[in-house]
Amino acid sequence: MQCPKCRRLVLWTTTEAGKRLAVDIEPDVEGNTAVYRNGTGTWVSRRPTDELPVMRWERLHKPHVATCPGPMPRHGRPVPPVLPPGVADMSAYRRKARGRP
Ligand SMILES: [Zn+2]
Repeated sequence: MQCPKCRRLVLWTTTEAGKRLAVDIEPDVEGNTAVYRNGTGTWVSRRPTDELPVMRWERLHKPHVATCPGPMPRHGRPVPPVLPPGVADMSAYRRKARGRP
């Protein structure tokens, strides 16, 4: 499945609380979410604890929100240049001024 924002492949899991959580499709030992596939083929995720550490059949993943780069810039539209501090963005100012009554 794809992330609706960045279109990367993600794994949709169900947390123990019954919520949907997207994690990166590749396991990551740095991740904080243990993921396993239960008997009905559902990917289940949970937060490992001292009492219940990561099990043999579980893999650590990172939640996708932690790595999601966000929406991709659209093709053909240049990314606006970053203005140095103290420099007014005149185009934004003009847009604002035009909107005034
Ligand atoms: Zn994403």
